[in-house]
Parts: sequence; structure tokens; C-alpha cells
Amino acid sequence: MRIFKFGGSSVKDALGVQNTLKVLLHEGVQNTLVVVSAMGKMTNAFENLVNAYAKSEGSISNSIQYIVNYHENIAKELFEENNVIFKDIDSVFNELGVFLETNKNSNYNFIYDQIVCFGELLSTKIMSAYLTNNGVQNVWLDIRTIIKTDQKYRKANVNWGQTLQNCQKHIDKNQLYITQGFIGSDTLNNESTTLGREGSDFTAGILAYCLDAESVTIWKDVVGVLNADPRVFKNTVLLNEISYQEAIEMAFYGASVIHPKTLKPLENKRIPLWVRSFEHLDNEGTKVSKGNTLVPKTPCYIVKTNQILVSISANDFSFMVEENMSDLFNFFHQYNLKVNLIQNSALSFSVCLEDVFGNFDAFYKELQPKFKIKYNSNVTLFTIRHFDENAINSIEQKGTVLLKQLSRETAQM
Ligand code: ADP
Ligand code: ASP
Ligand code: MG
Repeated sequence: MRIFKFGGSSVKDALGVQNTLKVLLHEGVQNTLVVVSAMGKMTNAFENLVNAYAKSEGSISNSIQYIVNYHENIAKELFEENNVIFKDIDSVFNELGVFLETNKNSNYNFIYDQIVCFGELLSTKIMSAYLTNNGVQNVWLDIRTIIKTDQKYRKANVNWGQTLQNCQKHIDKNQLYITQGFIGSDTLNNESTTLGREGSDFTAGILAYCLDAESVTIWKDVVGVLNADPRVFKNTVLLNEISYQEAIEMAFYGASVIHPKTLKPLENKRIPLWVRSFEHLDNEGTKVSKGNTLVPKTPCYIVKTNQILVSISANDFSFMVEENMSDLFNFFHQYNLKVNLIQNSALSFSVCLEDVFGNFDAFYKELQPKFKIKYNSNVTLFTIRHFDENAINSIEQKGTVLLKQLSRETAQM
């Protein structure tokens, strides 16, 4: 069986849905399980609805109307007026309405998952109906009946044993399936859960592992994995081959092109991952496999913006050693601050932090009495894998270097 994944940018409009059909016809529709994300930026739109509902930030009805219009406009371009898809879409929104009216649970993360999952349910309903309408027989699969997780809403952990069993029992390898990325359901109550933002790649990895798939293909709006984000760098180079290890390293440092959790299950079973362009079907794209580390061997650049560079020293002139460092790491963990780079000297400890949850101010307040702290916010962290002198120079020219660290294969500034 092959696993295909189409992300939000592949299905952001009617043209995207039509193009997905083209891809499937070009590649063949046999023995294929297609994982689809929510359309365009719909997950962000659902997040707005969650905040309107759970935190009274903004209007619930405006948020819903925006989402309804977005899907209906796409459906109107794809289907005749009397197609059953319009009833299907209505019933999905009814189900959402019922949740909003009857929910008694005040846990934000629980509410988030119950609402946000509708993005993927809608996109797959539309995709499946469009294929059927064009003579491509397929099965719409509610992946929440297959991928089982714990109850860690918004960041659920997969119950591999149950998921594997469900795959073996309920998935017929001869069919074409259309199913949702990113979502699952908890083992205890079958409530919806999500695997973390951008988690559809991971869904493809989970299913490939459980089904012993022959390959996974992620269809993208780029020709494959490039040696840098083309939105930030000019003259990027296509990477024809990357090893799992190298791809994991790149994802770890923040390359956003493949979700980091996707690769481990594939590596375990040596299932190759292809990243290909949904616009240029004759291109081979990038192959991630057990093979070569990097072809062509070229420096790869990863950029993380909006970082905070913090320098911390002890108030009492003691050295920055294990004892106070372990205190610091407890604080990073407690305040959910992601540590992307560390460097220390005798008297000072520098760390590059990412504050996704907006906790830095509280962290700073707690630490100030105990340590001397200086920081620069809005800093950019550049990572170069397989660096050379030219690569380093090109980054140094971009601005003021506050910190630089080189190891064998990786330079960070
Ligand atoms: P999807 O909606 O399919 O998940 P995304 O928009 O999340 O797709 O990711 C695709 C984008 O990732 C590309 O348009 C590109 O700008 C960006 N990108 C970042 N780093 C890389 C890289 N190293 N190689 C290719 N694309 C990259
Ligand atoms: N729709 C989800 C998100 O936007 C999952 C994904 O696109 O991979 O985060
Ligand atoms: Mg994505």
C-alpha cells in the first residue's frame, strides 16, 4: 500500500482539489491511502472559533460564518447545486453546532480538539465526494476509528498497539481511502484528539508504519526538500536524497518542510518517504531513505525567527555550573520555553529560547531575584548543516552576530 499526504496548501481551493484528482490519476489510484489536511489556513480559522467560544475572544458566529463560506464556496465551484455534498457539509456543521451547545467540559485543550478536528472532516468529505463524482471509487474513512491516543489533548500520544490492530482489522489494502491527517481519538472515551499542529505528516507516518506501506509521498507546492526555505533564501538547491538521520536532524533544528515525528516510524521499517511537487508530476522530488546522507552535498540552512537570546549569570559571583544550571533547566521546562541553543562560560550562561506559549515575562520575573539576566528579543537563529566558510560568511553578512557556535557538521548563529 502507498500512503499519500496532501497538506493544507494542496487543497486550499477548488483548483487544489481538482489537481489532487489529477495527481491520483497520474500516479494510479490502486492500493492507496490518502491523508488530507484541513483546507488552506482553516485550522487557524477553527482556532479563532475555539478562542471565541472558550475565551470570549471575538465573535462565535462570525468565526463560524467565515468557515462555512470558505467550504461552501469551494464546493460550489466543484459540484452541481443538487449534489449530496451540500447536505453532507450541512450535517458536519450541525454536529459542530451540537457540540458548541451541549458541551459542559471547560478544559481548553479538550474543547480545542473537539472543534479543530472539523477542518479535516470537511476537507476529506469534499475530496472524497469530488473523486466519486469524477468516477474514482473511494472509501471515506474516519481516522478517529483507527488512530487511538491518550487524552493529552492538542499533543496526543499514539497508542501504537491499538492503532496497529485497528489498521490490520479495518483497512483493506486493495481500496483507495480518503482520510484525515492530524486527528485521532482517545482510547477511553473515543473523544477527538489532535497530534499537534502540522501533524498530518505524522499521520502518514503512523499509517505507513502500521500498514507496512511500500512508501509515503508528501505532495507539496515545492519541488521537494530544498537546502533552505525558498521564502527566505534565493537560489535554493533541490536535495535529491537525504538519509532519515539527516532529515531528523534538519527537522529538529526547525526545517518546517517535514514534521519531525514523521520520520522515526518510517526509519524503523525502512519505508522510503518522497517529497514531491503536486504541480510538476514528472519531477522525482526528494527521497528520504536509509541511503546517502545528502545528495548533493551542499550546506543546508534553517531559519528560526522570533527567538529570545538570554544571558544568565549568578548574583553572587559563583560560577555557572551544574547546580544552578539544573535549576535553570527546571524553569525552562516549567514555563514551557523551548531551548534551541546553549553556550556557557565560567560566569555566564547563554541560551536561545522560543516562547510559543507566551510565558517569558513570568519566567523573567521569577528568575530576576536569583540571577542577573540580560536578553535580546526578536532574534533570528540560523542553523547551517554541512557548513563551509562561504555559507557562514553569507549568514554573517545578514546582520549582527550575537552568538556563534560550531560543531562538526552544524554551525549556529
Ligand atoms: P502543507 O500545507 O502542504 O503542509 P506547508 O505550507 O506547511 O505545506 O509547507 C510547504 C512550504 O514549506 C513551502 O512552500 C516552503 O516555502 C516551505 N519550506 C520551508 N523550508 C523548506 C525546505 N527546506 N524545503 C522546501 N520547502 C520549505
Ligand atoms: N491542519 C493541521 C494544521 O494546520 C494539520 C496539518 O496541516 O498538518 O496544523
Ligand atoms: Mg503543513
